[in-house]
Amino acid sequence: MDMAAPRHIKTTCPYCGVGCGVIAEVSGTGDVSVRGDESHPANFGRLCSKGAALAETIGLDDRLLYPQVNGAHTDWGSALDLVADKFGAAIRDHGPDSVAFYVSGQLLTEDYYVANKLMKGFIGSANIDTNSRLCMASSVAGHRRAFGADTVPGCYEDLEVADLIVLTGSNLAWCHPVLYQRIVAAKEKRPRMKIVLIDPRRTATSDIADLHLAIKPDSDVALFLGLLRYLARSGALKRRYINGHTTGFKEALQSAELLDLYDLVRRTGVAGATLEQFFALFAATEKVVTVYSQGVNQSASGTDKVNAIINCHLATGRIGKPGMGPLSVTGQPNAMGGREVGGMANMLAAHMNIEDAVHRERVQRFWQAPTIAAKPGLKAVDMFRAVADGRIKALWVMATNPVVSMPDAGNVEAAIRNCPFVVVSDVTAATDTARLAHVLLPAAGWGEKSGTVTNTERRISRQRTFLTPPGDARPDWWIISEVASRMGHGAAFTFSEPAEIFAEHAALSAFENDGARDFDIGAHGTIDAAGFEDLEPFQWPRTKQGSSVERMFTDGRFFTPDGKARFVNVQAPALAATEPGFPLTLNTGRVRDHWHTMTRTGKSARLSRHYAEPFVEIHPEDAARHRIGEADLVRVSTGLGAILVRALITPRQQPGSIFVPMHWNDQFASRARVDVLAASVTDPTSGQPALKNVPARIERF
Ligand code: SF4
Repeated sequence: MDMAAPRHIKTTCPYCGVGCGVIAEVSGTGDVSVRGDESHPANFGRLCSKGAALAETIGLDDRLLYPQVNGAHTDWGSALDLVADKFGAAIRDHGPDSVAFYVSGQLLTEDYYVANKLMKGFIGSANIDTNSRLCMASSVAGHRRAFGADTVPGCYEDLEVADLIVLTGSNLAWCHPVLYQRIVAAKEKRPRMKIVLIDPRRTATSDIADLHLAIKPDSDVALFLGLLRYLARSGALKRRYINGHTTGFKEALQSAELLDLYDLVRRTGVAGATLEQFFALFAATEKVVTVYSQGVNQSASGTDKVNAIINCHLATGRIGKPGMGPLSVTGQPNAMGGREVGGMANMLAAHMNIEDAVHRERVQRFWQAPTIAAKPGLKAVDMFRAVADGRIKALWVMATNPVVSMPDAGNVEAAIRNCPFVVVSDVTAATDTARLAHVLLPAAGWGEKSGTVTNTERRISRQRTFLTPPGDARPDWWIISEVASRMGHGAAFTFSEPAEIFAEHAALSAFENDGARDFDIGAHGTIDAAGFEDLEPFQWPRTKQGSSVERMFTDGRFFTPDGKARFVNVQAPALAATEPGFPLTLNTGRVRDHWHTMTRTGKSARLSRHYAEPFVEIHPEDAARHRIGEADLVRVSTGLGAILVRALITPRQQPGSIFVPMHWNDQFASRARVDVLAASVTDPTSGQPALKNVPARIERF
């Protein structure tokens, strides 16, 4: 019997923001295996446990195969007509701001682009926000405040040439494992490279740390103010850089001077000698990269934390040079791509600003759109509040599961349940959110759809198709375009393939862009299907001349009107009072082998072996105080509710702190949605929810 030769398709991992290249091998009999792509500059062949298990997660057992309306199968035409009718009726009767899209960093850039175009340019509202709001909105806001644009300055190679890497609020070993592997390999080659970990927990990342600062949650602003003060007093400032390329230093330093070592010890909980050891190391080392992630972003002071970090890099001129700079590592595979197309309620496409009338007019003219959103829309937490109080009449959730992942998840569930019209487009109907939908639309999944994603270092890579979508599943861009067409906007949504969308996105990035805007991939504004198929990974910006940029700000010019970076005058937040009855601090986060709400990784028995069920990490002293033994069932409560999880007693926790992973939901374990416990507290600048540092209590069940 003739057997077709195996096919090898280069694509990108759909999990974290490292954006590893993957080669999918499809055998003659259709079996799929994956391996790392040695030619991809993000991973050079490496994969972590999640990436290596991708082939185990593409089974069809829980796939949504056909459109459904109120639980009954229907055809695409009927489902799309209904969605267009209901959204159209809400807009007609209650105005454009009565509808909302809640989208996802799991979408490809082309999907994101079309959703944003429909909402902002053709519906005329900015009510499109994304689960990236839960992930990196504070970094976006911090970048914009400091640099005048949402620009990541550096690249992964900086991690290999740095002499000091400061990891703050980042369990890189589990959450961005291939970057961690790259650092481990670099440190093996150059043992004098130093690693400092700043994290309330002793995580797996502490294995490579030369110094661990187990700070109290949310004391990062104070810590980096203390560092700025130390840099000034120890002669480590780069005065010429500060004077030539920045503004606002004097005021920022005045705030830093308010905190002495005694204050810092009180606020951070770290011994004075340890703080000074860190400060001295930072001051004495020229090549420093500060990596930060959700421990920084998911906080009521997240944006200030980001700027406190950036301030220290600006003060020492350590930015835009090899081995130096702040590096925000994004959680999701396409959080960056979503930012590029403006898929957030406070942004326009191509990194243009919704508050800027010139930008709004430009985007509207480029799209030949009948309107353009005139003001920022509802950010995620506010969006679900508006669903709850009836302002949103029609909601479309794409590729995400807010009933599990949003703070105050119980009330988010109730809000969606009571919303007059809810559409969910996803690969599965087996999510807590999909169960509440009036209309379910089957979306194509990883391996079945084609487009681009952007990773943490601004590198755009292709996701390619190697599987046939099952049943009636379709790509998200097609679904959105069909709805747009039925709403009367067909002429602007004639896309027949993702290459056309990517070309339009690229053309918009270059449209009337004289270099004042950071995001520019205009070289691809005329790309065709064949060129798109062959597109190699590249970092933006990429101009018409075709050059890519590894590092930004190498010339000391930024995207502010005067070209200078801004020191932001951040203040250490007031010390939080203990909430009576809730004496512990609950932090949330990821485990190594699961992803988000486990709709994909939950299918792999291998991945589920690492942690088979949800748990709460408790320090031995707290466990003894509450008479809790190893593996006991524990009720974790806050003012909003309670969950039941297994006790894991470990000195990795500080006394007074507990940790619960975010992944489990009511699909996999009864009453384990940890985000029902977190209140909807947000950072005032970024709108990112504080999913850490939640007052809680524990008791044996
Ligand atoms: Fe995928 Fe991230 Fe693992 Fe790379 S590090 S294989 S992108 S999950």
